[in-house]
Amino acid sequence: MSSDQKPDLPSPFARFWDVVSWWFSSLLIFSFLAIVITLVSALLLSGSGYSAQDFDADIGDGVETTLAQLDDREIMEPLVAQVKVYAISPRQLELDDRETLEPLNPEADGVDTSPHQHDSDVADFSEGMSGQGGAGSDEKVVYLTFDDGPDSTFTPQMLDLLYEYDASGTFFVLGRAVEANPEVLQRIIYDGHTVANHTWDHSSLSGMSFADVKWQLSETARAVGPAMAPCMRPPFGSMDSNTKAWSESLGYEVVLWDADPRDWERPGANVIADRIFDLVFPGAVVLLHDGGGDRSQSVEALKIVLEELSDQGYRFEAMCR
Ligand SMILES: [Zn+2]
Repeated sequence: MSSDQKPDLPSPFARFWDVVSWWFSSLLIFSFLAIVITLVSALLLSGSGYSAQDFDADIGDGVETTLAQLDDREIMEPLVAQVKVYAISPRQLELDDRETLEPLNPEADGVDTSPHQHDSDVADFSEGMSGQGGAGSDEKVVYLTFDDGPDSTFTPQMLDLLYEYDASGTFFVLGRAVEANPEVLQRIIYDGHTVANHTWDHSSLSGMSFADVKWQLSETARAVGPAMAPCMRPPFGSMDSNTKAWSESLGYEVVLWDADPRDWERPGANVIADRIFDLVFPGAVVLLHDGGGDRSQSVEALKIVLEELSDQGYRFEAMCR
């Protein structure tokens, strides 16, 4: 053996560097993988952060925090339901839009959509739904009813007259008119009259979905509060085959009328009063309007009717008691 063979073997120093470079390379690879995994995770997390902000823009404050705390989809579900609850507001917007298109007082625009001018389908449903006393009652009672208020001008004038003649009446109010004139509603209640439901915005209930009918009645009931009587009158007297059953399922008896003097035509107070005298009978439900337009003739006619019918021995009672 000569010393010439020795250089073929790796020196201890070279073997040391082989080991060090192997460990170093491995460390680099693992570090690289770790960085890649971290970056991918960060990208995924930032993605869900975006959708949380997206929800926040729609729903409002507080939800973003809630969403950020949520990891699993099951808990997400109620939040989706919550979004659906907020989806009522487009309906509200729709109504608000219609409100600007369709004035509360339809006849003011010369359009022939006068309140309670019933079309052919009304007669089919009107029978037997009106007077508490009913036709043929011997009692000399008249049920005066007032629709489309409360109005800040005409309702107080009618309340003064009812007080003067010791008469009670029934006010079929619109929710949006209640919202506009809450103090007038309070006086109606304080004076002991009945407050009943005439929908929120005088929309025809004919052809309306159950959800919308419910909204019209319940929003008005919310505006009136506990004084709301369990009676409703459909705007224009307009009903379809569902209206009665749906109203009853929501707790309302449907009340129409017996004597309609068409006071909204404004034919003069004496004409309105004469029409009532022609139509009235013991137990009759009389339809007048305290809101929805200039009701000064209705006020004047009410005075004539109270005077004359009192002289004939009639008394005036509220319905839905
Ligand atoms: Zn009406």
